[in-house]
Amino acid sequence: MQLTQDIIVRKVRKSRISEVDFSKLEFGKYTSDHMLVCDYYDGEWQTPQLVPFANLSLSPTTLALHYGQSVFEGMKAFRMKDGAINIFRTEKHYERLVKSLERMCMQVPPKEVFMEGLMELVKLDNAWVPGEAGASLYIRPFVFASEAKYGVKVADEYRFIIFSGPVGTYYAKPLRVKVEREFIRAAKGGTGYAKCAGNYGGAFYPTQLARENGFDQVLWTDARENKYIEESGTMNVMFVIDGKLITPALSDSILDGVTRDSLIQLAKERGVEVEERRISTDELESAFRNNLITEAFGAGTAAVVAPINLIHIDGVDYKLPFYTVNSLMNQLKQQLEDIRTGRVADVHGWNCKI
Ligand SMILES: *Cc1c(COP(=O)(O)O)cnc(C)c1O
Repeated sequence: MQLTQDIIVRKVRKSRISEVDFSKLEFGKYTSDHMLVCDYYDGEWQTPQLVPFANLSLSPTTLALHYGQSVFEGMKAFRMKDGAINIFRTEKHYERLVKSLERMCMQVPPKEVFMEGLMELVKLDNAWVPGEAGASLYIRPFVFASEAKYGVKVADEYRFIIFSGPVGTYYAKPLRVKVEREFIRAAKGGTGYAKCAGNYGGAFYPTQLARENGFDQVLWTDARENKYIEESGTMNVMFVIDGKLITPALSDSILDGVTRDSLIQLAKERGVEVEERRISTDELESAFRNNLITEAFGAGTAAVVAPINLIHIDGVDYKLPFYTVNSLMNQLKQQLEDIRTGRVADVHGWNCKI
């Protein structure tokens, strides 16, 4: 399939890049010049288009706005040491997009449209990929039900968009997290493993309450017993206990994070023992009491790792030791960055060079 030739390209007349201060990038603020748009209607995906980033015009009856058929991905492109550009683990992101879309009963954009669209977009906006250490081009592919009809139904029309924007080093101030025992993010049989908009909408209120009580995030627990740790806010969570890297095993209430997967592989290769299993709040408390827990952190594309320095469990604040560059999380983060920027060999085939 010679898709590249099929993408319709309409370029901006004048780039907005001079309006951006690349020394002061903040997450989510800037968008690059172009976006990829591909519509699904009449039973098929139409010709993808690369067009100037612009507002959408939508009917108030657009189904996604009412019934929540809306799914997204979050990935990054990096400027490599030799100046080339690399998009990280495109295959794994596409696979997850497919899983999310299937759970939400939505149409799946063809792999060629996703892959080539991604490549052509980043190629066209290559000047927007920052070169500063830790900075990258954040890429947001998403699909939503675009059909205009207000009866509750599975939509027959969808829009797939990819836009991007430069982001800086995510300054990771250590987080104070509260183990959430009352509210839940996801339940068995639910949509927790899908990267769908509604999971975020439902998580805001409990998170807001935690903020009002002086915490940065919640540590979600399982919906049945409110006992087993699931995720930290919108990131996967990992602990170092007695020298082992421990993280909740994947389930239908846990998002299969690409960062989680990458860190697990790198840790194993270093000879660190990794356990993917259930981890209860009792186990955490006892690990604190016995001084066995040395690290706790969130893992996700935006921050890579987000250190946690306090975990609040049932009224008690448990503090973690200060993290140095020698902590496992920081070593893994550095290694991941070195792979992405071509400073060490990409033996896993994670880099997708343009
Ligand atoms: C996106 C996301 C993650 C992290 O996934 P990455 O692929 O590592 O970015 C973790 N948990 C939730 C709920 C997410 O939405």
